[in-house]
Amino acid sequence: MPRIIRTQAISLHSSPFAESSKIVTFYTRDFGKLNFLAKGARRPKSKFGGALETFTHASLIIYKPETPKLYILSDAEIICSYSELQASTEKYLAGSQIVEFVLKATDFEEANARLFNLLLSALNALASKQSVKNLDSLVLAFLLKGASFLGYRPELDNCVSCRKKCAGAKIYFDFINGGILCIKCKLNNTRAIIIEPNQIAYLKALLYFPIKRSANLMTLPELKDFILQYMKHHFERFDLAAFTLNRTDFKKSQTGQEPEKIYGWTQEIVRK
Ligand SMILES: [Zn+2]
Repeated sequence: MPRIIRTQAISLHSSPFAESSKIVTFYTRDFGKLNFLAKGARRPKSKFGGALETFTHASLIIYKPETPKLYILSDAEIICSYSELQASTEKYLAGSQIVEFVLKATDFEEANARLFNLLLSALNALASKQSVKNLDSLVLAFLLKGASFLGYRPELDNCVSCRKKCAGAKIYFDFINGGILCIKCKLNNTRAIIIEPNQIAYLKALLYFPIKRSANLMTLPELKDFILQYMKHHFERFDLAAFTLNRTDFKKSQTGQEPEKIYGWTQEIVRK
């Protein structure tokens, strides 16, 4: 990395440092997660303004000093502040959970442009003026897609043990191996749990639908816990507590429409 560079980034977290500064964690498009020292950021007339607020998409000028891990933030220009998230408790909570995943599941200085773009898409969907019917589904879709982009996509077509296509009513899931098991391979595996075909279809919808559409899906309550457990198995630092808060879904009473059901749609995805 050159010593002085420009990159786009999304603010994940900040904390006070010394008398007037902040340490800010950004997820950058070109270099992944980085910690920055933002000198003077807590002064009333700081040059950074609101660019360090969580969720803000900004263009940064950064300086890499001799000491690794702590970069110096030279300038930050707001591209989008996503202030809509600050105005709604429900959206703020969903945004916080998305950001929490990126903070805990990624390593420093590992660029992942797909994850960066996914994060932007999720924030755009949350900030959209159109009503979001189901914030839980949006967050769960983000987790599954994010895990997938980080190399942990759950295997939902072929048995993770014998690699044969799984079909029929009895299909199992092994969290540690990260995918489904056929009935034959389940005989040698005591930890796998049963998974229903409609649950597999829902997981596929969350994985493959554009994130905006996933916010229209109904939630299968049992799958929320399933997806959180999956994350816990694959990301050591994943904090379940951040995801167990209850959120009122934006259902019929508020939107006038039912969330989209995916039953009957299974075959379409299975063929892909
Ligand atoms: Zn098998």
